[in-house]
Amino acid sequence: MNDAVTLDHRELGRDMRIFESSPLVGPGLPLWLPAGAAVRYELEQYAREVALRTGCEPVYSPVLGKRSLFERSGHWAKFADDMFPPMVIDGAGPDADPLVLRPANCPHHAQIYASEPRSYRDLPVRYSELAPMFRAERSGVLSGLSRVRQINLDDAHVFCRPDQVADEVRVALSAVLEVLDTLGIEVLYLRLSGRDDSGRWLGAPEQWAAAEEALRAVLAELAAPAGLDWHAEPGEAAFYGPKIDVQVLDARGHEETLATVQLDFNQPERFDLTYVAASGARERVVMIHRGTVGAMERMVAFLLERHAGRLPFWLAPVQVCLLPVADRPAAAGQGEGQGDGQGVGSLVVDRVDELAADLRARGLRVRVEREGSLGNRIRLARKSRDALLGVLGPREIEAGVLAVTDPGSGVKTSVPLSALGDRLAEAARRRSARVVW
Ligand SMILES: [Zn+2]
Repeated sequence: MNDAVTLDHRELGRDMRIFESSPLVGPGLPLWLPAGAAVRYELEQYAREVALRTGCEPVYSPVLGKRSLFERSGHWAKFADDMFPPMVIDGAGPDADPLVLRPANCPHHAQIYASEPRSYRDLPVRYSELAPMFRAERSGVLSGLSRVRQINLDDAHVFCRPDQVADEVRVALSAVLEVLDTLGIEVLYLRLSGRDDSGRWLGAPEQWAAAEEALRAVLAELAAPAGLDWHAEPGEAAFYGPKIDVQVLDARGHEETLATVQLDFNQPERFDLTYVAASGARERVVMIHRGTVGAMERMVAFLLERHAGRLPFWLAPVQVCLLPVADRPAAAGQGEGQGDGQGVGSLVVDRVDELAADLRARGLRVRVEREGSLGNRIRLARKSRDALLGVLGPREIEAGVLAVTDPGSGVKTSVPLSALGDRLAEAARRRSARVVW
């Protein structure tokens, strides 16, 4: 059997039943099938956990906002072409200003910050939200999960004093590096995008100099111990603040930016976001945009391609595919055509059902494949990139083991049934890439 290696997430997505599109729902609006939802759910849980652990408070905000919110934020002037057309509810009164689907979550979070007065002692304030934003992409550029019209983003915004920038960036960047490591994504290098001598930057030169100094200090501190290179690129910053980009290679060897820690001097100006300093004066807050997993669509597409469908164990849509078999000649092993599902005795069927129920009760994702020849069933399980295949027949029951194959590494091993559940649950809990027996 020959698994053709594809690096296209759309093909992998079809084989693994990750997502589908429907002409009735529309292009660029993928439907997450159960296998894809399992991956996304794990990523969301992880992103939420890391956000909480790094001091964020979860918030919820609506996907709609008045057009004037985005005029104020500057999105309307810059991105109106990429936004869905405004919706007019009622041409008069408070609804005279039409609603738009948001192109970013930041303005809503800025309004949450602005909902109460802040003292220098209250800062930093960190809000996180995993929520959709929208892009009116032209149908010609839409593609699988990588170019879509609704993007579900793991997003966090920090509001802090200028003297807190270094600490906040350190926390944000450490979180990104940890998450990429857990996802099995190697970082190529880190890049500080700063200002040059042109006058196109928003904010005071001293503010920029201090912020860039803080970012450099964090890079100098974090990069070397992680074995990473970093460099500065003057003039590459966004006009509203310097940033650190985390660069990676995609499955085809192309460099891309997978995460960014972005300082923002613009939104606090536009929304007049302040705090009361120790002196009693109102000071401008600094906003930092950060996330870890980022856009669910993009990350799942990236991971599928990066791992050629063989996702880390904790993310795999099916972690164990159980294959009940009839008795078979001792020498035949798990060869093709052996152990036809038809001849499986009720003892084996009961034992497989029990085992599946036990593993599911531990939170593991299990499928039982009963129909057809063993060879065919193994082929199906490989096609859907199930993390582990477990064969159970009279011989295994007799020996109290499951015959486990890891199709990713090719490793075959007999695992005692008494230890199986604990080992698998532990690997999932630790977010392990592979189960080590
Ligand atoms: Zn943001």
